[in-house]
Formats: sequence, C-alpha cells, structure tokens
Amino acid sequence: MIAAAVVAVPMAQKPAPPKAAPKPSPAAIKLDALKQEAVADVDGQSQFSQQMVDQIFSYGELGFQEFETNRYLIDILKKNGFAVQEGIAGIPTSFMATWGSGKPVIALGSDIDCIPQASQKPGVAWHDPIIEGAPGHGEGHNSGQAVNITAAIAVKKIMEREHLSGTLRIWPGTAEELVGTKAYYIRAGLFKDVDIALFTHVGNDLGVSWGAGSGTGLVSVQYSFLGETAHAAGNPWRGRSALDAVELMDIGWNFRREHLRLSQRSHNVIVDGGDQPNVVPRTASVWYYFRETDYPHIKEMWETGDTIAKAAAMMAGVELQPTKVLGSAWPGHFNKVVAETTWANIQKVGLPKWSDEDQQLAKALQKELKNPRAEGLLTQLRDGLQGPAQNNTGGGSDDIGDISWNVPTVTLRYPSNIPGLPGHNWANAISMATPIAHKGVTAGAKVQAMTILDLVSRPELVEQAWTYFKDVQTKDTKYEPLLRPQDQPAIWLNKAIMDKYRPEMKKYYYDPSRYKTYLDQLGIKYPTIRAGSSQ
Ligand SMILES: [Zn+2]
Repeated sequence: MIAAAVVAVPMAQKPAPPKAAPKPSPAAIKLDALKQEAVADVDGQSQFSQQMVDQIFSYGELGFQEFETNRYLIDILKKNGFAVQEGIAGIPTSFMATWGSGKPVIALGSDIDCIPQASQKPGVAWHDPIIEGAPGHGEGHNSGQAVNITAAIAVKKIMEREHLSGTLRIWPGTAEELVGTKAYYIRAGLFKDVDIALFTHVGNDLGVSWGAGSGTGLVSVQYSFLGETAHAAGNPWRGRSALDAVELMDIGWNFRREHLRLSQRSHNVIVDGGDQPNVVPRTASVWYYFRETDYPHIKEMWETGDTIAKAAAMMAGVELQPTKVLGSAWPGHFNKVVAETTWANIQKVGLPKWSDEDQQLAKALQKELKNPRAEGLLTQLRDGLQGPAQNNTGGGSDDIGDISWNVPTVTLRYPSNIPGLPGHNWANAISMATPIAHKGVTAGAKVQAMTILDLVSRPELVEQAWTYFKDVQTKDTKYEPLLRPQDQPAIWLNKAIMDKYRPEMKKYYYDPSRYKTYLDQLGIKYPTIRAGSSQ
C-alpha cells in the first residue's frame, strides 16, 4: 500500500501549476516541440535500447575486465557517428566518444561493471544463477549506457537538423564497483573542457538531487606484508607470518571502530591469506575500504589504517610493503541548476506504465526476500526534487563524486529495478533484463534527451550551473585528489575471476539476431514466480 502522504504528491501526468508568467516565448515553444520530438524518437528506439540492456547483461563483466562490453559500445557509437578515443587514462576498458562541435560540451556517463557471484536468471523471482558462482549484473550497471546512447542519438538528429552548437561525449564508468577510474579520468584532464556532466544510475524511481548527497566517499587500500617461511611444525620459531600481521591489523581496526564517527563505514577482505597451513605464510594481503562523508575524515581514517598496519607489522615481526590504492571516490555534490532542469523533465515524463506481469515479478521478489510489505513497483514519482541530505549517516559511494567536484554534475536515477532489494546481490539482477529494465531505460532516456536539449538551447542554464559550482559548491571546499602521484589504475583486478568463468559465460551471450529478447533466448516465462507469491 502507498501511504496517504505519498498520494498527495502531484501525479506525473498532471501539468505543473501555471506560473504568473507571460505567454511562453517562441523559443520556449520551439524547445518544447523539439523535446516532444526527442521523446517520440526515444520511444521509437525502444527495441534498440532493449537490445543494449540485454546484451550487456549477458556479458556480466567485472570491473576492469569489461572487454566485451567496451567493444560492443564502441561499435555502436562509431556506427552512430561518434569519434572514439579508446583506452583513456591508461585503462584498457575505457573510452571517450565524441560527436558534434562547439559549446556546450556535455558529458554523458554511466557505469558498466557487474558484481561478483551475482549470476542470476532474469525474470525468475528467486535465487537461480545462470552459472553458479559467476559474476552478474547484481546492481544493474548493464542499463545506464542504453539511457545515454538512446538519448544522444535522438538529440543528435535534432541538433544536426537545427544546426545547434554543442558537443556530446559518452563515456563509461569503468570498474565503478571498485571506484576505480573516475578520479583517473579527472587526473588525465578528460573533463577539462566539459561544461556539464549528466550521469545516470539505475534506481527504482525516476529522480535527481542536488547538493551534498547521502552516502560517503572512500579510499580503497591494499596492505601487503612480507614475512619468512618455515616448517610450521618443525621450526615455527624460524618463520615470521605475514598472515599474523593481517589478522592483527583486523583486530586492531575492529577495536578502533568503536571510536570512529557514526557516519563511517569500513570493511575488508583478505586477498592473500597464505598458501597452506604447514608453511608459515611469507606473504599476506588485506584490502580495506575506508568510507567517510567528507575528504578530511576519509584522510583521517586512512592515516589510522596506515598506523595500525605498521603496528601490526611490528608485532608480527614482518615488513609492511608499500601500500596500493586500488580506488577512491569523493563524496558527491550535485548541481542545483542542472538538477532543477532535470527535475522539470522528470515530471513531464513520469514513471513507466507497468504491466501486471511487471508488478507480479516485483511483488514476488519482495516476498521472497521477506520484505515486510511487498508493494511492487512505484506507480507515482516518490519525491520532489531532493535537496542536500540532512543528517548523512553514511552509506555507499560512487566515484562520480570526483567528477562532481570538477564539473557541474547530476545523477539521474531511472526506474529499471525493484524497490526493497539488498544491493550487490543476485536479487538486484532479476529485473535487469526484463521489461522493467527496458521501460525504465526508455523513461530515463526521455529525461536525458530533454535535459540535453535544454542545455544546448539555453546557454544561460550552463552559466547559472557554473555560478552555483563556483560560488556555492566550491566556495569553501576545494577538490584535492585522494590518489597519490604513484597510484595507477588497478587494471589487473578481477582478471583471474573472469578467466575462470568467461568460457562458460560465453555460451549465454545474448544473440539478438536470433532472439527478440534475452528472456526468449533463455526460454524463461515472464514472470517466473512461486505459486501464489504475487498475491
Ligand atoms: Zn552503481
């Protein structure tokens, strides 16, 4: 059930209350007509969008290993008249695609990587992996490029015909789950001439926000220790265990955790815990994410981590190797003017019309996950335009934060997923190659196309966005990279996992020349739900 208070939110279809303004200018009328044309074009491209969503879903590639996804997207962009610079910022699975000329330069980005062990059959409302243990799109990063590319193609036709000045850039958020690339894009100067960055991220509503968001920034650091092997039973006193240092560091960190701020998040995995028990481990490594809500506190946590690592090495009598930064993200801050512009378009587009089947799948999954209320998909826009987060108690991170501190940026959320899911989980993959994802992408692409048309038609918006950026956002806070000069993109990550699973996964790559949808190819009835579960 939808709470009564929510019902009071104006319906998407309802026109905005008339302002006491004079009649719209001829320019405004023209812009409106162009937007309607773009919206119709996006609708006309729905099969093309669906194919992109399904194709990238089937590739299921982890961060820094998005080779199939990259090749696929680059081909599409080249076919559509974009010039593509490949392997940007020293990252093989990244590109910058450019079309058009002159100002404004609008950079359209979205993430492309997936989640370990999230392999899942789409449209099936319980855990049912395509390949057990394999990665899968358990966040929905298979959908955002389709939003941007569909929108860009629609707008490009109009810009060409109308001789509108402007440059469109399309780029991937490579290895976002590792917050692994966007700070390197900034360091490489790839956003130096960009006027506005329009980012898209999958969600379960159609929304946008401005100001400091909820959630955190982070630094991702690997600590490696070097000891000495010995026979663990015969001569244990001859050995020095690197694993001891890893364990002592974790104990130290977990005691320290009590005295950290409430907004922090920190977690680790042991990536090397030694080889076998009878050999004292010579090498061991532990990988931490240190998350906080602002740059000084992230730096402070990092320093604490370094101190505990040094102390652990001393206790174990081993050496701490030079640390490796594997990723970093500034907490995001989004532009008020661009968010307001986007929000006006969101209200015009509204949420997709869900079918009974879409709602059945959503409710069945919510029940499967034992959500207290299985409310299905949203049928009305949830929030008004959201301003700065109040009482940010921490949460996830996205390295779009680094871009947002260099260029006026917003993140458009589009409704391709189901509310009430755990995130980074097989459940989040279930909708991502179904009509829910496809409709959500089409809705997102309409908003994105309209916002691009606003920005290329109304130069004052770009100017106002920069005024907010300079006079409000960066007035007291200046961007300082978390990356150190010696840090390089961690492009080796996930290679071993993909090498293990890719041969089997290839058998399930989507073939749109034979099947209308990926669901058809997999022979999945939509929706597949437990008997009685949608009631
Ligand atoms: Zn994401």
